[in-house]
Amino acid sequence: MFRVNSIARQLGSFKSASKLSQQTRKMHVKPVKMRWLTGGVNYSYLLSTEDKTKSWLIDPAEPAEVFSALKTEELMSVEAVVNTHHHYDHSGGNGAVVSRLTELENADVQVISGSHNSPGTTQIPKHLQEYALGDLKIRCIRTPCHTQDSVCYYVSDPMSQEKAIFTGDTLFIAGCGRFFEGTGEEMDVALNRRILDGVGNSNWATTKVYPGHEYTKSNVKFVRHAVYKTAGENAALDKLEKFCNENDVTAGVFTLQDELEYNPFMRLDDPTVRDAVKDPQGSLTRAQVTDRLRTLKNKM
Ligand SMILES: [Zn+2]
Repeated sequence: MFRVNSIARQLGSFKSASKLSQQTRKMHVKPVKMRWLTGGVNYSYLLSTEDKTKSWLIDPAEPAEVFSALKTEELMSVEAVVNTHHHYDHSGGNGAVVSRLTELENADVQVISGSHNSPGTTQIPKHLQEYALGDLKIRCIRTPCHTQDSVCYYVSDPMSQEKAIFTGDTLFIAGCGRFFEGTGEEMDVALNRRILDGVGNSNWATTKVYPGHEYTKSNVKFVRHAVYKTAGENAALDKLEKFCNENDVTAGVFTLQDELEYNPFMRLDDPTVRDAVKDPQGSLTRAQVTDRLRTLKNKM
């Protein structure tokens, strides 16, 4: 039963992915690699409207790398610097980036983040607060755990039906962030209630995931080692494994529906995940399973 459901869900996700690629692209997401040579493998993202006149610049932690990756007109389109959380490798560039943008645009640039722990914050969104960026609709989903000020930003384009979610260090492809300021229970709520409900189930298969770091390869290694140990056991994981062996960027390729297929932190009731945390009877709470998975991952 479990397997049949899982195959049906996956077919659904392939179908919607091919339908999406036939549509005209409207919104633009430009990933900027930061700290890849020193092992941080961070991403900043420029999210822009179709005509590229309005943008949000998400987590521009390394000004030098961001300025060299973006054109002057791209920088001039930025209306807000936005942080997924306050850690320095996400918010540490706010000061320098805001001064450069203010100079270029001769206008105020907002800093949107989950708390004043991010330098220069001017706006702190509430859970499910929405912003408009041109035609784009952006919903802020507060996901406390990795830090208490973690926010995921869900973007939808009503014209093209494109959708994306910027998840910082809360949701990684095939994994999740460490629980620095929270508990397993909070991470379960963040991933499986707040993100999923905030996006809405009819949008999971078309919402591309843009995480704060390119950790996919090591996450896949963990899932293969600890959970779905053999090829053929989880078709979605097989596909992800192949993709990340052939490509260094996995951001913006996989959807929330894909995460539901292979990410053990979003499959807490799957008997194979319960086996992996030594709970074959299924007697642990979801929070305990989350904690045990995180402990296993931390040991790897
Ligand atoms: Zn972090």
